[in-house]
Parts: sequence; structure tokens; C-alpha cells
Amino acid sequence: MRKPIIVGNWKMNKTPREAEEFMVAMEAYLTGEEKADYGVGAPFVDLDACVRNAKHLIVAAENCNEKDSGAFTGEVSVPMLKEVGITYCIIGHSERRTYYNETDEHCAAKAKRLFADGIVPILCIGETEAQYDAGETADVIKSQLKGSLAGLDADEVARMVIAYEPIWAIGTGKSADQTIAENCCKLVRDTVKELYDEATAESVRIQYGGSVKPENIKSYMACPDIDGALIGGASLKVDSFKAIIDATK
Ligand code: 13P
Repeated sequence: MRKPIIVGNWKMNKTPREAEEFMVAMEAYLTGEEKADYGVGAPFVDLDACVRNAKHLIVAAENCNEKDSGAFTGEVSVPMLKEVGITYCIIGHSERRTYYNETDEHCAAKAKRLFADGIVPILCIGETEAQYDAGETADVIKSQLKGSLAGLDADEVARMVIAYEPIWAIGTGKSADQTIAENCCKLVRDTVKELYDEATAESVRIQYGGSVKPENIKSYMACPDIDGALIGGASLKVDSFKAIIDATK
């Protein structure tokens, strides 16, 4: 049985003080008895404040560099994240692919490096609106998965989280309907089965992301191949994140 996993992706929002306030408010609300894993993806400078205040919440970084150290100004390595106490890391988010040229090859290297330190990657994939309109969604999903999982072992893939986030649904308020989201998440699972085996496909946790909010999360969580959500805007306010937890616990 896969345990659902719901993670807020704060993107470039919240100062360390705001992050701490959010964590304190959320932790006062959680009991640890919830049926799902809940967490936040936070900017690097917020991670320490998040980890120090986390009891039940997962704390994820939003990016990492695949190299251990060196002359890479502005980058943050996996050993640095590990020392702060990070257990999950988002990789390949469409905003990083679009604005910072992150490729499937980078994702594969980052995932491998994260696993070496026991940090679970949350790999994001998803098609653009033009690709969706051209009927290329399935090809994009398969090709991103093939490239981003290259070099990973079955037992690593079994432990990871894959977030299917159609780019046309991110921050637009135009969420994919339940059928599209389920079909695409099922395709992710079928592709993992093709690339690995059935046990790996049954174990990997697959999230839907794109304009998820308290009002629609239940419909996604009811789908057999959707194990959770990666949530941007609706994860920023305590009340809205609480409402998401209420709708799923
Ligand atoms: P929104 O929930 O704001 O659409 O963002 C989705 C996302 O990009 C999560 O990673």
C-alpha cells in the first residue's frame, strides 16, 4: 500500500521568519496520526528554520547541485542539504527546466547523487500547453522519464516520488481534470513498469501538480494512480494548507 504524500512547493516565497511561523502553526495542527505524509519544499535559506521546527512535516529542498563541492557560484550541494537535515529534494521542476536550463540529464545526475546520501528525489515532469494541444503528452512523459531515471536502480526508483505537473496547469488556476490527471499518472506508472518492473511501478509514489487547492484535491486523491499532490499557491497560507490536510486525512 502506497502512503499518500502531499508536499507544498513554496517556490521563491517566504523569509526564514515566515517559514518558521508557518511551521510552528502547522505542527500545532498535526498529530502524526495522519494517513498521509505532508511536507513543504522551501528555499535554501529557509531550510534550517523549517527543519528545526519540523516534527511531522517533511522538509524538502527545491533544488540541488549534483557535484559535491567546487567552483559553482550560487549552487548548493547534496552534502550541504544532508547536514541541514533535509530528507527530500524537488528536482526538474518546470520552472527550473524553463528558466535555468535544467535537463533530464541533470535530473538523472541529481537523483543519483541524492540517493547516495539517502535523500529522496521528487522528480517533476510534464508537458507544455503546445505539446498538450499537439497530442504529444504521452511522448513527452515517456521521454522525460527515460532521461531523468537513466542510471537509477529499481530499488531507488521504487523509493522516489514522481510529480506529473502539466505546465499549462501550473499557477494558471486551470487544473487538469480528474481523468487527464489519472491517465497521465497511470502512464507514468506504466512507463516505470516498462523501464523497470511491476514491483517498482507499484511502489513509486506519483503526485499530480497544477492548481491543486482545497476544493479539488479530493477528486485527485480518489484516483488509483495518484498518490498525492505537489502544491504551489495553495500551500503558502496556513489556512489553505490546513484545508488541504482536512480534505485528505
Ligand atoms: P500551483 O499549485 O500554484 O499551480 O503550482 C504547482 C507547482 O508548480 C507545484 O510544484
